[in-house]
Amino acid sequence: MSVSVNIDKVVKKFGEDKVIDKLSLDIRKGELFTLLGPSGCGKTTLLRMIIGFHSIDDGQIKIDDKVINHIPVNKRKMGMVFQNYAIFPHMTVEENIAFGLKVNKIGKEEMTERINDILKTVRIEEHKTKKPENLSGGQQQRIALARALVIHPKVLLMDEPLSNLDAKLRIEMRNAIKNIQQEVGITTVYVTHDQEEALAISDRIAVMNKGIIQQIGKPEEIYSRPSNVFVSQFIGTSNIIKGIIKKKEDGLYVHLNDMYEVKMNNLKQDEIVDKQEVLVSVRPQEFVITNKESGIKGKIDSTMFLGLNTHYFVNLDSGERVEVIQDSEEEEILPEGKDINLNIKSKKINIYHADTKETLI
Ligand code: ATP
Repeated sequence: MSVSVNIDKVVKKFGEDKVIDKLSLDIRKGELFTLLGPSGCGKTTLLRMIIGFHSIDDGQIKIDDKVINHIPVNKRKMGMVFQNYAIFPHMTVEENIAFGLKVNKIGKEEMTERINDILKTVRIEEHKTKKPENLSGGQQQRIALARALVIHPKVLLMDEPLSNLDAKLRIEMRNAIKNIQQEVGITTVYVTHDQEEALAISDRIAVMNKGIIQQIGKPEEIYSRPSNVFVSQFIGTSNIIKGIIKKKEDGLYVHLNDMYEVKMNNLKQDEIVDKQEVLVSVRPQEFVITNKESGIKGKIDSTMFLGLNTHYFVNLDSGERVEVIQDSEEEEILPEGKDINLNIKSKKINIYHADTKETLI
């Protein structure tokens, strides 16, 4: 049976430094929940509070509504996988996995059964008598995962488990982790600073910055509707350009320069005033390079042909600089120095308050 994890107004200080400030989130039974944010934002600190390596200065952490603040690490029944694997080099795969079971005084017969089961789940049965040094990074991480899961923890915690692997293996292992997590059905808290990894692996993501949650949502929600400028720029690439709201009889428009306006159908009307300054977030692939006279004027500063796509950096007449991505097969490849007009596929842009940088959608 999987459990829920409830974090309620949790605070962590190191000396005078408040690293986590009244942070709250609910992690649902059986989901793979990711804490995503830049280095130093407090992800690992939060994970270590959940498992019990760090004390909690204020607030509560609950497992299925039971407060665990004062329960010691070894009684919390949680498994953890670390970036550096933390497996014992002098023990075989099997011995590494057996270690936690021996500590928990599990009988020999059950131990053998559990080890064989988990070796199958993480797909390293054929290596069980080998020492870790004779295995690849991905296989070593599978041992670490097996060792964490074999004790049948209530919650699995993973701290940047793929950082030490090369790019190809990282992609292979993130699929493996997702599959194993789903097969076992265990509530999992996963820490990473890699947004692509988070999007690929998670049921839901909490984006953190400076110890504060910026947004919680499914990967596609976070990507398509970032709730503030920080999330918009941290998840994927976003161009942030200045705009001005114009209220007209038929609705709200955002003016991006004197020549170009985009009709917005989904803004919170009551929070918006005429001529209000806003920040507009546009993904590079949402720009269209056009022959029309109307558009945002600029000059191509650099052209990079990358096969499937062509990437441009464009200096706008406003002084702003944007990245534009076009489909290489559909669109002509344009040279550096060319004057162009940009239009925007308006449905996918997001509008933010110029001061608070919070969403107006
Ligand atoms: P990274 O991805 O680099 O590990 P992170 O988001 O996991 O980053 P944390 O390791 O949780 O961040 O650190 C958050 C802040 O707390 C940082 O400023 C860090 O220097 C500080 N910090 C972490 N552990 C301690 C400690 N034991 N004593 C003092 N300060 C600490």
